[in-house]
Amino acid sequence: MALSVSTVLALGVLPGPAMASGQSSAVQTAASYTSVPVAAARTLDRNPSHLDVFVNKSYPLKPAKYVPKTSKVPGTGIRLRPEATNAYNKMVKDAKKSGVHIKLISGYRSYDRQAQLFNQYTRMYGKKYAERISARPGTSEHQTGLAADVGNSNGACALQSCFENTPVGKWTKKNAHKYGFILRYPKGQEAVTGYAYEPWHFRYVGTSLAKSYTNSGAKTLEHFHGVAATKKSPPKSGKGTATTTANLNMRTGVGTSNRVVLTIPRGKTIKLTGSKKSGWYQVSYNSKSGWVSGTYLSNVSLPKTSKPKTETKKKPAPEKNTGSAKKTTANLNMRTGAGTSNRVILTIPKGKSVKATGKSTSGWLQVTYKSKTGWVSGTYVANTSAPKKSKPKAESTPKKKSSTKQTTANLNMRTGNSTKKKIILTIPKGKKVEVTGSKKSGWYPVKYKSKTGWVSGTYLR
Ligand SMILES: [Zn+2]
Repeated sequence: MALSVSTVLALGVLPGPAMASGQSSAVQTAASYTSVPVAAARTLDRNPSHLDVFVNKSYPLKPAKYVPKTSKVPGTGIRLRPEATNAYNKMVKDAKKSGVHIKLISGYRSYDRQAQLFNQYTRMYGKKYAERISARPGTSEHQTGLAADVGNSNGACALQSCFENTPVGKWTKKNAHKYGFILRYPKGQEAVTGYAYEPWHFRYVGTSLAKSYTNSGAKTLEHFHGVAATKKSPPKSGKGTATTTANLNMRTGVGTSNRVVLTIPRGKTIKLTGSKKSGWYQVSYNSKSGWVSGTYLSNVSLPKTSKPKTETKKKPAPEKNTGSAKKTTANLNMRTGAGTSNRVILTIPKGKSVKATGKSTSGWLQVTYKSKTGWVSGTYVANTSAPKKSKPKAESTPKKKSSTKQTTANLNMRTGNSTKKKIILTIPKGKKVEVTGSKKSGWYPVKYKSKTGWVSGTYLR
């Protein structure tokens, strides 16, 4: 359809998520401890004045109304950060030599401008669609002054997916990274980037990052950094998979002192068995199984059925090594929360003793050091005191005779051992149930989802 100039310009303003790479601060020494490439230890740079600042729906700009220093791109009324302007000019010049004429459609957009746009799209298309094509204010890469929407000088396919087949679309896809620009919202990656395919949206990250990003083969900047696009994508789907965010060694056991079985390339999907220890996950890949550090996994989704019901029941007495002594195996950032997106409180030197509070999540431990409490990656912490796990559990809860069986069909749980009895619920096929007593006339007393009742033994194995 024929879009008016103002509509096209408005469309041009599509905000986008962002990319970034950042060498902020975390764990610089990781490489020497895990034999994962240094790049893997990269943490997200969220400083909006840095060229590699990472911005997306889940990682908004801080401060939200950040205003970068920008200058007008010559021959346009559009502004970009000077570094991006220089790179853009160079790119335009080189493209021209090949007979390709790039036009800048949109660059820097302020918070207020973005708010205006987002509201406009919402009015036009509804919120759901607006979210796919534009950013909420404070979450747009355009607000960094480092994102450029490009088009053909004749206006062909401006801000439409057919742009990918135009001369500028093809040329930039192939060459933009040489100038420090990367295609930020690639095709088929909406679930990760949070945005529909935008073959025209390029983010300036500098040539060195653009190069390592391109060489990494990562599909998106989110993959590259090992972050999920939206905080809502819950790692709870129970699929039992994860994605590697670095070339990652699979080892025979938990910890870098174990033998390397093989190295899993970055960006691969691996299977999780459900076992997890001190921030390491048991995985299988290429028909081998072993352990990998959880620090270099994203989209971690543990298999749902991994925990036999009996375990969750027995409230493991605060087994936690409450206040147990640990030692850092690297210079280690203590953060306000579990994950590298949290603020660094202080850096604990290598070899220092820290106290684990007993809290842990996704491979991170809460520790106390120098009267500060915060979170550190469990990968760089070793035990100094004998871990006194499991023992107390076993003693306090004598092993039940219970066993676990699996349903081989959708199976009715009934109030008694006969089909005449009332159905309590239907247990889906393939679920684990706890057998709580002895069999009676071919029926078993079982527990499932905290309900107890009887099921026919015909459909258990
Ligand atoms: Zn854009």
